Amino acid sequence: MIQITMPLNFLGTVYREIRQALIDMGDMFDLLEQPAEVKDKPGAKALEVNGGRVALQGVTFGYDAARPILKGVSLDVLPGQTVAIVGSSGSGKSTIGRLLFRFYDVGDGALLIDEQDVRDVTQDSLHAQIGVVPQDTVLFNDTVHYNIAYGRPGASEDEIIAAAKAAKIHDFITSLPDGYQTTVGERGLKLSGGEKQRVGIARTLLKNPPILLLDEATSALDTETEMEIQAELKAMGQGRTVITIAHRLSTIADADRIVVLEDGVIVEEGRHDDLLARQGRYANLWNRQSEEETA
Ligand code: ADP
Ligand code: MG
Repeated sequence: MIQITMPLNFLGTVYREIRQALIDMGDMFDLLEQPAEVKDKPGAKALEVNGGRVALQGVTFGYDAARPILKGVSLDVLPGQTVAIVGSSGSGKSTIGRLLFRFYDVGDGALLIDEQDVRDVTQDSLHAQIGVVPQDTVLFNDTVHYNIAYGRPGASEDEIIAAAKAAKIHDFITSLPDGYQTTVGERGLKLSGGEKQRVGIARTLLKNPPILLLDEATSALDTETEMEIQAELKAMGQGRTVITIAHRLSTIADADRIVVLEDGVIVEEGRHDDLLARQGRYANLWNRQSEEETA
């Protein structure tokens, strides 16, 4: 008996390890849909977050050398601050998030978290400290429960349900035939963009990281649900560092600082009221969106 269970246990462990490795890899690819091209330095240390200051120092980057995407971007997000990045589509906003997560290394300059260069720390520790809600959440072919619980292995049932409630997805889940045990993803129940986004938000609320990166996190939601979830995300952002890439400007008007990125360059920076008064690029974007909303 013992002779049989030991190898079986061993196989079980190997299986779980392989499965975990696949999921971790999947996670890397999924979160912002970028390939993992970067490796840990030999002897890299774990990132130690102490406040969660995020600093971009003259960051230059292009996916290929011929075409620079970020051209000397400097941005200092102090611990606990909420900074919003806005700008036209293609201006490089999501690229900043990908560099923060270190899917790619900067060309020139540096990206520091609490004075530690992201190139010097392990990717595991980096990813553990940053919660990302991407534009398009990719789900694992597993249960809804698994997909939320993934945010923090070991979370209790109550915590998972609380996160789902805060992300306004609990009622939907309980309406499914198998509730939280319903399989979703490519080979299971296909969820709408908004439902996937809410699962992604629940996952991140559960993860509860010190640094939060919201990349058009509520763009797939209707205005009413967006407002409700924005309130949850705002509550979650209290006391932690938040970088939020905004689609609807009304959701970031109260940010500590708004940064306008155009063609890989920061062209304006300030608080909402100051930027409106300046009547520049931000005021332009704001007025255009206000007109669209009233139309
Ligand atoms: P934003 O989020 O502001 O809309 P992105 O940061 O996603 O813009 O993209 C900035 C520019 O980089 C775009 O022109 C986009 O086409 C290009 N880009 C994004 N991802 C890749 C990639 N993986 N390979 C090559 N170019 C990319
Ligand atoms: Mg983007």
